[in-house]
Amino acid sequence: MKLAALGEVMVELAPQASVQAEGQAESQNKPLLAQSYAGDTYNTAVYIARGGVSVSYVTLLGDDPYSEEVLTRLVAENIDTSAIARLPGRCPGLYMIQNTPDGERYFTYWRGEAPARELFADPARREALKTHLLQMDCLYLSGITLAIMSDEARAELLAFLAEYRAQGGRVAFDSNYRPRLWASADAAREAVAQFLQQADMALLTFEDEQALWGDKRPGSCAKRNAGFGVAELVIKRGAEPVLLQREGELTAIDVPAVSSVVDTTGAGDSFNAGYLAARLQGATPEQSVAAGNRCAARVIGHRGAIIPRDEYLSAVAADAVAEVAC
Ligand code: ADP
Repeated sequence: MKLAALGEVMVELAPQASVQAEGQAESQNKPLLAQSYAGDTYNTAVYIARGGVSVSYVTLLGDDPYSEEVLTRLVAENIDTSAIARLPGRCPGLYMIQNTPDGERYFTYWRGEAPARELFADPARREALKTHLLQMDCLYLSGITLAIMSDEARAELLAFLAEYRAQGGRVAFDSNYRPRLWASADAAREAVAQFLQQADMALLTFEDEQALWGDKRPGSCAKRNAGFGVAELVIKRGAEPVLLQREGELTAIDVPAVSSVVDTTGAGDSFNAGYLAARLQGATPEQSVAAGNRCAARVIGHRGAIIPRDEYLSAVAADAVAEVAC
């Protein structure tokens, strides 16, 4: 099974411990920032690859040292970088994370000039990319992928998805609604609705659905997506049970308690990765939700969206031992 994830990877600055300067009150501590790389589809791509599925990451980068480092990291994760274009004189976007004591997080972005905004825009690059994507069993994209693209490029991608699905490919989508990336909520709803109509699997976060569509209850989200023709729908709700809708039936699946939630950055992305890696390797949707919960639990116990590979793989091994013991 081969999956391609399309989107943007940014430079990430996340708070670590804080430093107390001599003679200063603790309240004046300066946070230390750890520099890494993240982006919703990138995070998902990394954890899918760690889950043993062959992954290609599709984006545009610059020719700066940070872009170079992104490529090095992708290669270290065994992710295919052959469909990544480089734009001379450009560099990736940047975002900062702020955490509250309960592990919730807030983001601030500098990404207006990011090369990834030109995804699917250049005709020659687009044709080469289509050939690459047609070799994949599954494509994964998000509302952020759509939001950063030009209207024309988005329309081209939408038309391509219809062609891709007609040839047997599967599409997985997470709406990941970020209001500031869209001209208006109406524009976001229109684009997201069009892409959901081309999605075989939708992995949505209820909070984002409420912000985008004004849902009062998950039932209205489930009904709307059934109307879009989404055959397999997953609704994530933080620590609340995950909802799974298949063939018109809605099932609630418990989320195991996580003893120490340090930073929920990447929770939804890692859930999606656990789900898709399991699903593409033959697991049922129910088993895949459990795999999604396990993947997210490993990630929210650490700071930042991407936890170190060794630490992650040890956690996978520990989960496998615990499962056998059960
Ligand atoms: P997002 O990151 O998109 O806001 P959610 O907050 O809904 O997504 O979380 C996605 C998944 O992460 C959940 O379905 C669950 O598996 C896990 N998760 C998130 N918060 C918690 C928590 N407090 N306790 C246990 N698991 C959690």
